Amino acid sequence: KEPICDCNSCYGGPDCSLFLPACPANADSGDPYFLEPFWMQHATSSALVVAGWHRMGYSYSDHSFISPELESHIRTLHSVVGNAITAGRYIVFGAGSTQLLNAAVNALSSDNSSTPASVVALFPYYPVYKLQTELFQSKNYRFEGDASLWENRTSNATMNFIEFVTSPNNPDGQLRKAVLHGHPNAKAIHDHAYYWPHFSPIPTPADEDVMIFTISKLTGHAGARFGWAIIKDEAVYERMTTYMTLNTFGVSRDSQLRALKLIKVVLEDGAREIFEFGYEIMRDRWEKLSKTLSTSKRFSLQKLAPQYCSFSQKVRAPSPAYAWLKCEREEDRDCYSVLEAAGITGREGGLFGAELDRYVRLSLIRSQDDFDLLLHRLRKISGEEGAKP
Ligand code: PMP
Repeated sequence: KEPICDCNSCYGGPDCSLFLPACPANADSGDPYFLEPFWMQHATSSALVVAGWHRMGYSYSDHSFISPELESHIRTLHSVVGNAITAGRYIVFGAGSTQLLNAAVNALSSDNSSTPASVVALFPYYPVYKLQTELFQSKNYRFEGDASLWENRTSNATMNFIEFVTSPNNPDGQLRKAVLHGHPNAKAIHDHAYYWPHFSPIPTPADEDVMIFTISKLTGHAGARFGWAIIKDEAVYERMTTYMTLNTFGVSRDSQLRALKLIKVVLEDGAREIFEFGYEIMRDRWEKLSKTLSTSKRFSLQKLAPQYCSFSQKVRAPSPAYAWLKCEREEDRDCYSVLEAAGITGREGGLFGAELDRYVRLSLIRSQDDFDLLLHRLRKISGEEGAKP
C-alpha cells in the first residue's frame, strides 16, 4: 500500500523519498525552521514535561499576568546580547508580538481626541500593521499608509501620529529610525522582531519608548505564540496591560513555561552558540543568493553593507531574514507571477505597500531543503536570461 506523504512535502513515491520536480520552492512564510537543527542538538535540555495538575488556574493573582522568573530571564537576555535597555522599564507579555502590536496602538492613541491618530509606516512595511489596524476599525486611530508622505507636510502640525518602525525591517532587513521623529505629536512603536544577532548586526542597545520583541524569530518557536513589549512610560504600560486583560486574560502559562525553558538554554553559554549557529546559516544563505544574482540583469536584491556588531565585537557581513527581490525588466511588472512560473512561491511585494508589484519577498529563514530548492530555481531562471525569447 502506498504511504500517504505529507501534502506540503516535495517528496512522493513508495516511501516518500522521491523528489517531485514540479514542487514549488516555498519562500513564502517566515517560519524560522533554520533553527530546527539547533534545537535537535539540544533536544534534551530544551524538553518540557508539564504534569496535569501544574498551574491550572488563571494567572491574574500577580496582576500583570506575567511570570517574574521569565521576565527576569528576558532582562538578562537583553543585557547579554546588548540589543535593548530594560533597566527601569516595564515588560508586558503577549500571544506573539502580533497581539502586542495592536495593544500598543491602542495604548498610544487617545480615547478622547477629536480626530483619530494616524497610524503610519514607511514603505515597504510589514503588512499586518495595516491589516490589523483596519480590522479593529477604532474611532481612536486610523491607518494612513506611508510615513514618508507625512514627513514634511505643513498640514501635519496638528495631527497625532503613531509610527511603526521596524528595525531591522521586514521585508528588506534595513536598520531603521522613526521618520516622524521630532514631530511634537508623533509616537513610535519599535518592532524589533529581527533585532537579534542571527539576522542583524547589533550596533547599540535599542532604547526607545515602546519596543516589541518575539520568541518567534529569537529561538524560532513561532508556534509557541509568545512575545513581549518593553515600555518606558507607566501609563502606556497600564493601558497595554488592560488590553491584555480584556483581550485574552493574559498569555498562556504553558507558553510562558516553554519560553522560559528555551531562553534558559539560549543563555547557557552566554547566548553564543545559538547566535553563532544562526548567523552562520543566514550569512551563508545571503552570500549564495547574492552570488547567484550578482550578474543578473533581470533580478536585483536590496543593498546591505557589513556593519560593526557589538555582540560579536567585529564587523559582520549581512545575514537578513528576507530577500527583497526586484524584477528589473520592463515587462516583468508582476514579479510574483514571474517567479511563480519559475517554480518559486514568494510573497507579493504589493502587500508591503502600494505600487511594489515589481518586488517579491523571499523568506530565507525556512529549512535548508527549502533554501536549496529556492537557490536551484533561481540559478536556473537567472541562467536562462540570455536565452530570453
Ligand atoms: N513583526 C514583524 C516585523 C514580523 O515579521 C512578525 C512575524 N512575521 C511579527 C511582528 C509577528 O510575530 P509573532 O506574532 O510571531 O511574534
